[in-house]
Amino acid sequence: MNLNCLKTLERQKTSEVWLHFVQSKPTDVKARCIHCSELISCKTKDAMGKHMRICKMMPREVPDG
Ligand SMILES: [Zn+2]
Repeated sequence: MNLNCLKTLERQKTSEVWLHFVQSKPTDVKARCIHCSELISCKTKDAMGKHMRICKMMPREVPDG
């Protein structure tokens, strides 16, 4: 069982990376990018933040809508 993700969530509730990733299970060690469906390790925010920069499907600085 790996609770790293849960602990990270508890400690960083405002983490905006989670606006772009979902876990199929709270205990998953990987989160899925909601834009391109790629699985990214969520043990650290670094990997998720990096993916946010390289994800081609990620909306960037898009005005409302
Ligand atoms: Zn992506």
